[in-house]
Amino acid sequence: MACHCCSTAEPAKETPSPRSSFTIHTSQLFDPAKLEVLSDISVVVNPVTSLVEKVYRRTESLGDHVPDGDVDLRGKFVMPGFVDAHTHIFLHSYWETPSAQQKRDESFVERIIRSVNHCRAALMAGYTTYRDLGSESMQEADANVRDAINRGLMIGPRLFVATKVLASTASYEPRNENYLGGTRLPAGGDAADGPDEIRKAVRRRIGAGADIIKFYADYRRRIMRAPPKQQHPYVAGIRFPNANDNPDNLVYSAEEMHMIVREAEMADAPAVAHAITKPGILLAVRAGALTIEHGYFCDEECLREMKLRGTLLVPTLAIAERMHAPRFEAIKAMVKLAHDMGVKLACGGDTGTFNHGENAREMELMVEAGVPVLDVLAACTLGGWEACGGARCGKRFGRVEEGASADLVALDADPRKDITALRRVDFVMKDAQVYKAGGCLQEDAT
Ligand SMILES: [Zn+2]
Repeated sequence: MACHCCSTAEPAKETPSPRSSFTIHTSQLFDPAKLEVLSDISVVVNPVTSLVEKVYRRTESLGDHVPDGDVDLRGKFVMPGFVDAHTHIFLHSYWETPSAQQKRDESFVERIIRSVNHCRAALMAGYTTYRDLGSESMQEADANVRDAINRGLMIGPRLFVATKVLASTASYEPRNENYLGGTRLPAGGDAADGPDEIRKAVRRRIGAGADIIKFYADYRRRIMRAPPKQQHPYVAGIRFPNANDNPDNLVYSAEEMHMIVREAEMADAPAVAHAITKPGILLAVRAGALTIEHGYFCDEECLREMKLRGTLLVPTLAIAERMHAPRFEAIKAMVKLAHDMGVKLACGGDTGTFNHGENAREMELMVEAGVPVLDVLAACTLGGWEACGGARCGKRFGRVEEGASADLVALDADPRKDITALRRVDFVMKDAQVYKAGGCLQEDAT
C-alpha cells in the first residue's frame, strides 16, 4: 500500500468523522454565575459545535466506571477554563531579558516562535482564553497568532487581541539615545493625536483585526529626562535621579479618550485603558472604557465611579508585586476595597512580563489581598469574559451552561482548602477538545 506522502493517487476525500458528543462527570463543579460549588453535575459537550449541550444533576450513582468515551472528573475540583485578562504573548519575563532588549534584539521569527511556546504553556496551565493587550512592537502579528490557533495550526488559549496600542505621539514606545544610523527601536503603539487622527487610528486597528482597542490614559512618558537602566540595557542609569523625573502623566485629554471609546463602539468593539493615576483613571472611566488596567492609584472616588458605570478593574497584581513593591500592600488594600465596594474584577497578570504558565500568580495574589477564593475564581472566568467584551465577543465562555463554549479545567484539590491547587491543573478542555488529561498533553489534540 502506497504511503500518503509519495502516493500519486488522488487524496482520499473523506475527512475523519468528528467525535460525537461525550459527557464529563464531576463531583464538584464551580459555577461562577451562582458563586457556588455544585455537586454531582454532568456536562454533555459537542466537539463539532464546540459548545456545551447540556448540564444536568445526576440522580443515580454512576458506580466506579463511567460509560466508554465519557470523562471521569469525579474527585476533582472542576470549573470553567481560566481567562487571563491581561497578557502579552510576545513577551517573556523581563527578568530574563528587559523589554527594550526583547524588542530590539529578538528577531520577528524568534518572537513568533516564543509566542507558540507561550500559548502552549498557558493552555497547559488551564488558560483557555487570553485577552492579549498589545503586541509589544510586533505589529499585528497577535491577530495572526489568534487566527493560527483558531485554524488548528497550533494550540493555545482563545485570543482576543488589541494589535497595536493607542497612545499620543512619543508617549509609549521604546527609546534609545543614539538615533544615528537609523537605530530607532520598533514602536509598539499606533501614535495618534487629536480626534481626527484618533478616529483614523481606531479604524486602522479595527481594519487590522483588533478585537479590542487598548489605549494609554497615562504613562511614564518623560523617561528621557533620566533614562533608567532597565529601559536602556547597555546604558548606565543616571546617578541621583530626582523623585519626579519620570512620573505617570496623562497621555490623552478627555476629548481624545471620548473619541477612542466612541469610535470603537461604532465598530461594536470595547475600548480598554491602561491607567495608573487618579486623573487617568477618572478620565478613562468617564470616557466609557470597559476596563481599567492596573489602576494602582484608584481611590474611593475612582472606585465609586467604576461601580456606577460597571467598569471592570484588572489590577495586574502579579506585575505590581515585582514593579511596585514599595506600594504593594497599598495596592492590595485597594483591590480589597474595590471588591468590598462591588467593583467588578477580572484576573489579568500582565502575563508575559513574567513567564506564561505562571498565570495563576494573579489569583494567588487576589486571594492574598483578601478577596474570597470563589470570587477570585469568578474574576478569572466570568469576569474575564466580561473584560473581553461580554456578549460582544460572539461567544459565551467563563461559565458552564448550555450553549457556552465547552471550556473546562480540573484541579486536583479544592482551592478553598489548598490554594496551591490552582497550579495543579491536570485536565484542560477548550471548545470541547481535550488538550490535557491526567496531567499530560494530549498529542492527538495538537
Ligand atoms: Zn500589559
